[in-house]
Order: sequence, then C-alpha cells, then structure tokens
Amino acid sequence: MTKYIFVTGGVTSSLGKGIISASLAKLLQARGLKVTIQKLDPYINVDPGTMNPYEHGECYVTDDGAETDLDLGHYERFLNISTSQANNVTTGRIYQNVITKERAGEYLGKTVQVIPHITDEIKRYIRGLEKEDYDIIISEIGGTVGDIESLPYIEAVRQLRNELGKQNGIVIHLTLIPYLSAAGELKTKPTQHSVKELLNYGIQPEVLVCRTEHPLTEEIRQKLSLFCNVDKGSVIESRDAHTIYDVPLLMLKENLDTTVLDKLGLEKNDIQDLTAWKKFLGRLKNPLHEVRIGLIGKYIELQDAYKSIYESFVHAGAENEALVNVESIHSEDLEEENFEKKLKGLNGILVAPGFGERGIEGKLKAIQYARENNIPFFGICLGMQCAVVEFSKNVLKLEDANSGEIDENAKHKVIHLMEDQKNVKNKGGTMRLGAWQCHLSPDSKVFTAYQNEVVFERHRHRYEFNNEYRNLFIEKNFKPVGINKEKDLVEIIELEDHPWFVGVQFHPELKSTVETPHPLFVSFVQAAIDNKKGKNNKDQLKEVNDAQTEVG
Ligand code: GLN
Repeated sequence: MTKYIFVTGGVTSSLGKGIISASLAKLLQARGLKVTIQKLDPYINVDPGTMNPYEHGECYVTDDGAETDLDLGHYERFLNISTSQANNVTTGRIYQNVITKERAGEYLGKTVQVIPHITDEIKRYIRGLEKEDYDIIISEIGGTVGDIESLPYIEAVRQLRNELGKQNGIVIHLTLIPYLSAAGELKTKPTQHSVKELLNYGIQPEVLVCRTEHPLTEEIRQKLSLFCNVDKGSVIESRDAHTIYDVPLLMLKENLDTTVLDKLGLEKNDIQDLTAWKKFLGRLKNPLHEVRIGLIGKYIELQDAYKSIYESFVHAGAENEALVNVESIHSEDLEEENFEKKLKGLNGILVAPGFGERGIEGKLKAIQYARENNIPFFGICLGMQCAVVEFSKNVLKLEDANSGEIDENAKHKVIHLMEDQKNVKNKGGTMRLGAWQCHLSPDSKVFTAYQNEVVFERHRHRYEFNNEYRNLFIEKNFKPVGINKEKDLVEIIELEDHPWFVGVQFHPELKSTVETPHPLFVSFVQAAIDNKKGKNNKDQLKEVNDAQTEVG
C-alpha cells in the first residue's frame, strides 16, 4: 500500500519545502523505496505556463508536456526520475475540473461546494499517482499555513489522513526558527503559533523541520517538542547549507528519514545507494579547474528564472571537476560601446531562452562576439533562434532578417511561426511542449557529446528554423545537425570551424540531474576549460575538428 508524507510550510514562504521534500525522497530512495513527489499549488492559474518569471520563476516542462512548478525540477534532479502532469496540480485545474463536471451534470441536484466537491477533487489528484505503485508519495503543499488559498488543501489532507489511517499519512511541518541578535537567542514562538494554526484546522504534525541559521540547542528542541506536541526526536534541524546538494546528507545526520519510516511503520532498510551522490559532492567541492561562463538573459536579477540552467552547470561542472562561475549579464546592458568590455575574458557564453523583443539586440551582440572570437557558445531555444538571426545578418548578409516573433513583417523570416501554431488562439498549454525525438548527424560535435544517434529532448516554443533558408546556412558551414524527422524541424544547429558553437531549439537544462548531467552542458563546460587553456587558436582548432571526425 502507498503511504503519504504531506509537507506543509509555516512562518514564512521560501523556506525550501521543495529541497527538503526532494532530500527526504532521495534518502528514502537510497533505502530502496519507490518514491515520488507531487506539488500542490494554491493559485488560480491552471498551470504556471502563462505567468512571467517575475511572478513564478522558471516554468519547468515535463516529458509529457506539462508546464509545471520549478520544484519539479528539484525532484527530477535529486531523484533522477521523470515527473509528469500528475506531479503538479493547481487550484485553477481543480476548479476547472469541478466546473466542467458540474456543467456535464455529474453533481445533478446538488449544490457544488468547497467541501466536499473541491476537497474531493484535490484528494482524487493526490491519489492519482497511486496506480504507479509507489511505496511513498510526498505531497508538498504550496504556500504557508494560514493563507486563505491553501485552506482547501489543508482540509483535504485532514480528511485523507482520517481515511488512510494516521500511520499511512504523516505531516511534516517546515518552519523557521529566527535568531534575534539583540537577545542573542533563537526564538520558537513563531513556530508554536504556526503549529497552533495547523491544529485549528485539525492537523497535528508528526515532524517539525526547523530552518535555522544557528544550531538548535537541546533546550530549544525540548521546548519545541513540548509546545508543539511532537517527540523530541522528531524536531529536525535544517541549517543553511553551502549547496542544496548537501541537504540530503544533513537530513541523514538528523535522522529525518528513519524518523519518518518509524512514523509510517515501515522497515528501516540500510542505505544502499548514495555512492553516486557522494562522488558528485566530492567533485563539486574539489574542483581542479575554474571557468567563467556568461549567461545572457533578461531576467538575470531573478535567481529562479534560469534555475535549471544554473543547476545544469553545477552538474556539468562537477562532472568536469571544474568550478563554473556563471556570470549573469543583462542582455539590455550589452550595447555597441561596451559589449566587448563586458564579454572579454569569458570562457563560454550562453544565451538564454525567452520570449519577446526586449534585450534581443544585446543577445545578437553576444553571439557575434562569441562566433568571431572562437568563444564556446551555447544558445538555448530563443538563444538558438538569435544565433540563426545573427548569422543571417552578419554572414549571409540577408538584409532585414529576423525572427517572426520580433518582426512579423521582416523580409527574411529565418525563424518563423510553426505551421501548427498558425491558428492557435489560446495562450495556455498551446506551445510545442514536452519530449520530441531528435536525430543527430554522426559527424557532429553534439553526436560526440551524446554518443547517441537518437535523443529525446523537451520543448516549449512556438517558432522554429525556417527550412527555406536551410541550404544557404549549410553552404556557410552553419549546419543543422539535429532534426526531428517526423516534422522535418531543425532542432540543433552547429557551426563548423568554431571550437564549440551549438544552438538547440529544446531545453537541455530540464533533463540534467546530479547522477546524469546533461551531455551538452558537460561538453560545453569542457569546451570552456579548453578555451581557458588557450585551445582556441586556429591550429588547435584544426586538431579539435580532426579529433571530432575520428570519434564521429
Ligand atoms: N520565444 C521563442 C518561441 O516561442 C522561444 C521560446 C523559448 O525560448 N522557450 O519560439
């Protein structure tokens, strides 16, 4: 039978419920259990696909094409498993379903209400993953206890615990223990209040995970245990960590996993498998190389906007035993008079995904600089499309070349709207989404990186490379090296006669995990290391190309 762990948050938002959930799941997985995590989001959007990164950070896309919360990225990166639409639900989706059923007459004769109809629908979603035979499902409830929006979820958890029996569904409450420097003390009162709030809704949490900047003393643990009615052993300290990837081992030290297994009445199998994780941490913390990568985007002030890209660099860096310093550069700050100064000394340049016109000129400048100076370049989605536009303007000399997204009336729309997007009116969930097959040319750098002829990568876009121009590009060694054969779409371009110049229409960052770093990020970081070693002059370039041909 599947058992449940519900994770709620108290006192403040941003305590890292996602990381705690993923870390606990990692430990349980290492003990041989089949675990997954789901995120319940209390907002009214049906999914986060229509929110901008200021509102919501990155939109994470799953293989089955769901546009989801970025916490699902943490789940995949930690657990090395794929998630799907069933791993993320929002209040918007819940209400949409209930209202559709109401119109279809499923509740005929009844008044449709939050309790039981909305809470039933929430429970149905929570239990939707059971058919996949998980030993444990962790349900992370977005928001903070006390928020109006999260009430129906808390109520659904209360009901579900009664239905499942307490040993089959426990609650972990994540809270903050603030440190008052004036008093020189950690304070437990906010946590006491937060637990009281949960109790008001009929939920007594079994475990407290306490975020703190200072160690919890025995006295504090005792106090929390007494006032919050949990055993002392179930007061777990969660200190700020150097990297999020330390958290599973910190939780292991605090016995979070065994505490939970006890509460759920499950056997405490030995930890079998954290070797790969520890090896990764060892490499992460003892780098032999150091490189500087410029990340060019328009949301650089937001930590969360390019979350998966940053994490992919952490994975790929460790794989190469390199410290990757990602330097965020605002595309709007790159101008004719300053761009060389700002980009000088970078060992690699990545142009980020995105939508709309803002900051495009700066992106084109950065790409031109990388291309002309043999600096490794990686363009993702919009970044790839910009590379196509830059090459059209500056090498193919196509006057007035552009992407249809930027200028619908451009003479040469080298990037244009996909055929099946032309009649799309609704914005929600209508992009080209999810995993698509891509065939690689055997004589390409990307083939060398993947060591595979067929790959599946995740997409989220409406525009594509315009095939009418394909031959013009090929003649100048700007090669389509990854093709979706079913629709004849260019998915990857690569520039020959350059140490590493790759643009991808998909989002490789969404598939990089600790245990399986993404091959293209690994290869890009390797190219950046080579760049630093000075392997970018013309003679060495020839060597690189010869080597590529041999491997291919
Ligand atoms: N705006 C571009 C498109 O829709 C690229 C999207 C992206 O970078 N995810 O095609």
